[in-house]
Amino acid sequence: MTDWTAGTAAVAFQHCPACDAVWYFARGFCPHCGSASPETRVASGRGRIYAVTTVTRAPSPELRALAPYRIALVDMEEGFRAMMHAAPDLAIDDAVQVGFVRFGDLVIPRRHRLGDRA
Ligand SMILES: [Zn+2]
Repeated sequence: MTDWTAGTAAVAFQHCPACDAVWYFARGFCPHCGSASPETRVASGRGRIYAVTTVTRAPSPELRALAPYRIALVDMEEGFRAMMHAAPDLAIDDAVQVGFVRFGDLVIPRRHRLGDRA
């Protein structure tokens, strides 16, 4: 299964069948119970803004082309928290849906308010 990190317009997360934990960054084991059989699933893309900030000093030459840009931590409806680019008008507690934008050779996820276009 691929997601945006491999150029596919999707957000993947992992689930542990043994203890029902969910997490975002892919691992070969469950960080909660140690099970070596995590499942990778595709997220719905729906969530709620936990925190949001504006980046004015981009960390790489590629991202300087986007600055200033917004970054948000989003509590996804599946139970994990993910950090991604965000539309400029988003605020804490807004209900959001992930969209995807092409940036050079990359496809990056970008949050927008539920009901708005990506
Ligand atoms: Zn587990």
